[in-house]
Amino acid sequence: MVVEAISKNFFLFLSNNRLLDKLAKKWGPKFGADKIVGGETFDQAVPLIKRLNQQGLQVTVDHLGEFINSEPESRNRSQECMETIRTIAEHQLGSEVSLKLTSLGLDISEELVIENMEQILDTAEKHGVVVTIDMEDSSRCERTLEIYKRLKTKYQNLGTVIQSYLYRSDCDIDELDEYDPYLRLVKGAYKESGKVAFPAKEKVDANLKHLIKKNLLNGNYTAIASHDDQIINYTKELAAEQRIPTDQFEFQMLYGMRNQTQLDLAKEGYTVRVYLPYGDDWYGYFMRRMAERPANIAFAIKGVFSK
Ligand SMILES: Cc1cc2nc3c(=O)[nH]c(=O)nc-3n(C[C@H](O)[C@H](O)[C@H](O)COP(=O)(O)OP(=O)(O)OC[C@H]3O[C@@H](n4cnc5c(N)ncnc54)[C@H](O)[C@@H]3O)c2cc1C
Repeated sequence: MVVEAISKNFFLFLSNNRLLDKLAKKWGPKFGADKIVGGETFDQAVPLIKRLNQQGLQVTVDHLGEFINSEPESRNRSQECMETIRTIAEHQLGSEVSLKLTSLGLDISEELVIENMEQILDTAEKHGVVVTIDMEDSSRCERTLEIYKRLKTKYQNLGTVIQSYLYRSDCDIDELDEYDPYLRLVKGAYKESGKVAFPAKEKVDANLKHLIKKNLLNGNYTAIASHDDQIINYTKELAAEQRIPTDQFEFQMLYGMRNQTQLDLAKEGYTVRVYLPYGDDWYGYFMRRMAERPANIAFAIKGVFSK
């Protein structure tokens, strides 16, 4: 337990190290990162998405990138995102797009993010592609949800994420209800203080079940994004008990995690979406996955030696 907490904090600390992030861009996906990242460019990810689609899995792609601190960089990101959407349409891929508002300038100006998002959503709407705004750390939650609400009044093809570790999430689900939201429900991946988030894992798990039930009974489309059997089985039982149709929810898992479970769920008739990150900014993503699951450390060490 103690070792687990130390390693979690260690990897979360490393995930914020900008020097290592810079070096990682030079190295390319290493240390096993290529097992959970779809490539350095979207073109490299396309054959992978086709293969996943052929296996009966849907995809959402995420162009990795977190530390953006200039307006031109954010506009570049926005252009790349539109290019990705056009490529999805061109290859008729079963794929949505996930993105982070910090990569579009959230820490620079809200108007810049809105401008970038509107361009992306216009392109996405034209090509029938759904876009989901990932949720970042709690200091950005309020701004992210306000931007989501503002954009959702204009665009249907837009989802966002609610994290069950945050105390505020129950109220957020209530407030979002009138926007006909597409919500991905997760436990939460960032290091948060006890002032804003449940410190105990059992509370985070229980709250995730509570939020899944609430959002499904509100009649909203829900993506249950978890690798946890307890959460997956809870959702299946709830859906059967409450007669919630299977086209009102889907399961989501990260690329490279629980591959057999993904295929089994798809065979059972559930929609399963694989979150596939790509890009040279793989470092922060990889470190957060390592923090989540100590078993991933063994997997990474194996990655170092299997090269
Ligand atoms: C598609 C997707 C999108 C996400 N988007 C966001 C986001 O926008 N913002 C955010 O903060 N977080 C996001 N997350 C991360 C999420 O918040 C959690 O940090 C992460 O999913 C770990 O929680 P868990 O529910 O999967 O299971 P955990 O609580 O980590 O693990 C519970 C149990 O599940 C099993 N398990 C977990 N992982 C594995 C594995 N790899 N292999 C085998 N068994 C395993 C184990 O039995 C484990 O004990 C996302 C996750 C997914 C899957």
